[in-house]
Amino acid sequence: MNLPIYLDNNATTPMDPRVLEAMLPYFTTKFGNAASRNHPFGWVAEEGVDYAREQVAKLIGASEKEIIFTSGATESDNLAIKGVFEMYKEKGNHIVTTVTEHKAVLDACKHVEKLGGKVTYLPVKEDGLVDLELLEQSMTPETILVSVMYGNNEIGVIQPIKEISAIAHKHGALFMTDAVQAVGKIPVNVNTDGIDLLALSAHKIYGPKGVGALYVRRKGPRVKVTAQMDGGGHERGMRSGTLNVPGIVGLGKACELCGQEMESEAKRLSALRDKLQTSLLELEESYVNGNVEHRLPHVANISFKYVEGEGLMMAMKDLAVSSGSACTSASLEPSYVLKSLGLSDDLAHSSIRFGLGRFTTEEEVDYAIEVTKNQLTTSASFHRFGKCLKKVST
Ligand SMILES: *Cc1c(COP(=O)(O)O)cnc(C)c1O
Repeated sequence: MNLPIYLDNNATTPMDPRVLEAMLPYFTTKFGNAASRNHPFGWVAEEGVDYAREQVAKLIGASEKEIIFTSGATESDNLAIKGVFEMYKEKGNHIVTTVTEHKAVLDACKHVEKLGGKVTYLPVKEDGLVDLELLEQSMTPETILVSVMYGNNEIGVIQPIKEISAIAHKHGALFMTDAVQAVGKIPVNVNTDGIDLLALSAHKIYGPKGVGALYVRRKGPRVKVTAQMDGGGHERGMRSGTLNVPGIVGLGKACELCGQEMESEAKRLSALRDKLQTSLLELEESYVNGNVEHRLPHVANISFKYVEGEGLMMAMKDLAVSSGSACTSASLEPSYVLKSLGLSDDLAHSSIRFGLGRFTTEEEVDYAIEVTKNQLTTSASFHRFGKCLKKVST
């Protein structure tokens, strides 16, 4: 067993060696520009991209023409929200989202507000789930878009996507979801889930960093987004820029592997996660954050009252985990996601997110349990001891 142990798979995942293998030729012999139509170098690159488009589409039940490649989910979220606002602002100027979204969604919404849009940031219930009645009440004839994440990156809570999309559609709005943490981990289907736009990222599913995709529905309804990057008209005019062919091939392979292995992987990881959670909850005054039934299989976010997360993390040098404490240059701000569940600052600061992944072994989980328990039994000395060590990674 190698130390430290990586239990921060919601921040990023190691690349699967099979993904790397698929990518390698596209850096060297198959180096062509996928937009070069006049010679085989371009055709070979384009074939790689086309195949990846099919692999991505298949994983989410889409058709390949509905997949727009981007530089990652931050760009996909921005393209979806700003692009829908620009395209449909004559129809209405109102967007509904939630307070627990990733910053990529929240900040894109703030940008839209600067452009004259109105945004409702729905609170969530104590367990992190959206209140469907509140959602219903927030819908107006001006609402053009509802954006709710599929699975939360900090607490793993899975939103009732079918119900949410039905409410959006009933009021004539489009439904967009940041599904970065859900795609490849649990079944996601754009048709049965009623999704019009969906953001995903390769590096959260054992693919490379710096590449992602936006699904944009083409039928029932045909959705359009205004490009945020102008140039050569790539990706059906929605996202210009020479395609990152090796990255895209890697994203495709990562999606294919998830499709094949998701079911068994989810079973294995949820069993390990439950083992970890059960052991840690034996400690006094420890609590799971977020709904435990509607939750991603590989995540457990646990607060340990009386222990400060940063101090705990400093003591647990052999575990790479994230804490609910995020350090900004001047202050120690606790996680806004945990705060929105109603947690006190202290309890939010004392939380640890354990994110298991494809390469996590049972031996590693056993070791994590042992280290955490040891530290907690001597926790008094760590209380409020934490210094600004690292930012929580999302
Ligand atoms: C990681 C993450 C993002 C950002 O994705 P990048 O590809 O790193 O830009 C967006 N949303 C969620 C929920 C994430 O976990």
